[in-house]
Amino acid sequence: MDLYLPQEVRDFREEVRTWLAEHVPREQQPHDGPEMRDFDLAWQRAQYEGGWAGINWPAEYGGRGLSLLQQMIWYEELAWADAPDIGVSFVGINHAGPTLIARAKDEQKAFHLPKILRGEVVWCQGFSEPGAGSDLAGVSTRAEIVGEDLVINGQKIWTSYAELADYQELLVRTNREGRKHAGITWVVCDMKAPGITVRPIPTMSGPAHFCEVFYDDVHIPLTSVVGDVDDGWSVAMSTLSFERGTGFLRDQVGLVRLIDQLVELARDRVDRRGRPRIADETIAERLATARAETAALTAMALADISRNARRPQPGVEGSMVRVFFSELSQRVAKLAVDIVEEDGLEARAFGLPDAFAAEWYRSFAATIAAGSKDIQRNIIGERLLGLPKGR
Ligand SMILES: Cc1cc2nc3c(=O)[nH]c(=O)nc-3n(C[C@H](O)[C@H](O)[C@H](O)COP(=O)(O)OP(=O)(O)OC[C@H]3O[C@@H](n4cnc5c(N)ncnc54)[C@H](O)[C@@H]3O)c2cc1C
Repeated sequence: MDLYLPQEVRDFREEVRTWLAEHVPREQQPHDGPEMRDFDLAWQRAQYEGGWAGINWPAEYGGRGLSLLQQMIWYEELAWADAPDIGVSFVGINHAGPTLIARAKDEQKAFHLPKILRGEVVWCQGFSEPGAGSDLAGVSTRAEIVGEDLVINGQKIWTSYAELADYQELLVRTNREGRKHAGITWVVCDMKAPGITVRPIPTMSGPAHFCEVFYDDVHIPLTSVVGDVDDGWSVAMSTLSFERGTGFLRDQVGLVRLIDQLVELARDRVDRRGRPRIADETIAERLATARAETAALTAMALADISRNARRPQPGVEGSMVRVFFSELSQRVAKLAVDIVEEDGLEARAFGLPDAFAAEWYRSFAATIAAGSKDIQRNIIGERLLGLPKGR
């Protein structure tokens, strides 16, 4: 892999930097409710209108048709420009859209992809159920074919932003015979369809993004199935490869930026004896280790991008980056709390949107979302290292 960026990519970075300097919204990003939806979609729309949405998406559906490396450069510059998080656009941009590009029919792509890029719709993910999380193939929300429709009954859980969503990537069981991995279907569910009830789940870390979703004789046309009926497991694996492989690139880059901010913070802040926090050897050592680890993370992400540039969807190596990133983000969140000490409980420290303590609470979710760290380690063991399958 060539570690020097080609001239065209360096020019691209300059263009991005100039545009972001003028267009990044400076208002506080809302973290909840319809205000969050409005803000996040307006920011997505601004990126589309500026020609920066879907950098590696096909041009025929409104993207730029550029490389994954250029997409990564965009994320880096977003982080350095302190641009808002992707927020409610996460599923649409990071894994539903890419899944449709890889697996959907032309009419489905033409209908959905431009709406996602233009910031007109919010997507959510209806995979997990009370009895099927890590064991995703155990989904039991059932769908019967009635005429031209699937009729859906059951329940999903942990559906982020369901109450703000227009569409859902939904996994349903269409066949109860044979292997459980067979008989699953991936369908685009219209969240406004009659029979859907969304119930938010409050959490200890503040705004309730999680929801339970109940389906009571919900009719979804068979034309909304992506792939074939009963063949949704392979489509779901595409979704997870994007979610785990490229879905968190922006956050990975954000972590590199955060470490630099924490070094500055540790220089500025003093302890009760008036010494800068960075003079505490354990803090200095943890900062140095975290900086080295974020450099390693960037190298792993670039190596992954280089591999993924040569195939239609990310490979299972994404699980290595995902585990390393999620555990590192927890260590960094704890380090931030330790640097600011008790001020971290409420201060809007160093211009970050929330108190560091809230970031720390939230970081516990990082090793669960998109498949727990144990499941990622199983994937690494079985599929990359060729170890025997666990029971
Ligand atoms: C921030 C966040 C956002 C999320 N958003 C969504 C969403 O939008 N849509 C959605 O569908 N889901 C979402 N989820 C749910 C997430 O996908 C599941 O929580 C996750 O897959 C784990 O499933 P579970 O909670 O049922 O835990 P379980 O599967 O019950 O696991 C419990 C524990 O057992 C361990 N375990 C289970 N099986 C094995 C095994 N075979 N080997 C080793 N250890 C094992 C797990 O690692 C875990 O520690 C979200 C979760 C989080 C934290």
